[in-house]
Amino acid sequence: MSSKLLYLDHNATTPVTPDVRAAMRPYLDEEGFNPSSPYRAAQKVRAGIDRARADVAKLLSCEPEEVVFTSGATESCNLAIWGAVIGSDRPAHLITSPTEHSAVLGPHRSAAERGHRVTYLEIDRSGRIDPSQLDALRTPDTRLVSVMLVNNETGVIQEAGVIGRWCRANGILFHCDATAAVGKMPVHPNALFCDLLSLSGHKFHAPKGIGALFIRRDSASRVASYASGGEQEWGRRPGTENVPGIAGLGAASRQALEFLDSGGPARVEKLRNEMERRLREKCPEVEILGAAAPRVCNTSFLRAPGVHNDEMVVCLDQEGICVSTGAACAAGASMPSRVAQAMGYSESESREVIRVSLGSGNTDADVTRFVEAFARSASRLGMAA
Ligand code: PMP
Repeated sequence: MSSKLLYLDHNATTPVTPDVRAAMRPYLDEEGFNPSSPYRAAQKVRAGIDRARADVAKLLSCEPEEVVFTSGATESCNLAIWGAVIGSDRPAHLITSPTEHSAVLGPHRSAAERGHRVTYLEIDRSGRIDPSQLDALRTPDTRLVSVMLVNNETGVIQEAGVIGRWCRANGILFHCDATAAVGKMPVHPNALFCDLLSLSGHKFHAPKGIGALFIRRDSASRVASYASGGEQEWGRRPGTENVPGIAGLGAASRQALEFLDSGGPARVEKLRNEMERRLREKCPEVEILGAAAPRVCNTSFLRAPGVHNDEMVVCLDQEGICVSTGAACAAGASMPSRVAQAMGYSESESREVIRVSLGSGNTDADVTRFVEAFARSASRLGMAA
């Protein structure tokens, strides 16, 4: 990423750090053996996978045997959801929320097309789920609840632990998509009563195409494996391992732990809050979605009334600033943010939101540059007073 660019889209992806690159390099070069091969050189590669698994487990405060390496959160969410669904011998009832990422909504939609039943939780104006809804939704066939820990657009933190505890008490599996949380706040699946938890490495400085699924040891028998092939990852994710990616994920996990232990989230949050304070001062019309709820340290979901988010993103891009709209683009035209709509914003309001997501490398000068560019762009694009 060029030094002239101001990158404020860390919820989309993060740069690979030198330490992560250094941890990966041997497995691209002199240690490029298949970890399943019988000779000693290959056993060193196997040991590298074991070390990385221990590092991920330390970050999550779980057992290494509870960590399955995958290609990223999309695959982890699919393994979790399908694993729960196909483990059921009759049509299953699944509960999730409309603000989940498509990695979770997609498999739910497919499960519904195959005769399973899906119920969506209600979201309040601040982006939160009231866990007390669950009691009324539960049926004898309810097999899985899937709720994310942090929303990738708003940064809103759900009461995942309360939901997990309810699931545990009711004998229902709980999957938590923690992709937007890992590396930015402590994430401990056992403390959240998770049976399954998904993460993606590139959201916290590992490369793209590597992730993990936590499968709680005591719940593993209730989660079926849907892929078949080799015995890698206990047969849950068969196929020759992505060793450089796994080593990178291990290094990124060590780095994330250092960041968390050294007060990193508080530093980023201070910068994010300062950005929002200056933005409110300069542009009082701007609304910050989800600001009434607890939020992860780095995310701001901003609405400039009357300004189409595509135009705002283009304007900021022309100033060398990378941010995104609430939703991924399809065929060049962005969709209204599904998350904003679920929070009760109208379709046109949901086309006025942009997501700014800071990283640990951002500075006060970056925030100043963004606020000024945002104010300039908003006035050029005719923000409603
Ligand atoms: N869940 C959330 C909350 C995400 O933000 C993302 C990535 N945007 C995913 C799942 C999917 O991750 P990946 O694309 O790395 O598979």
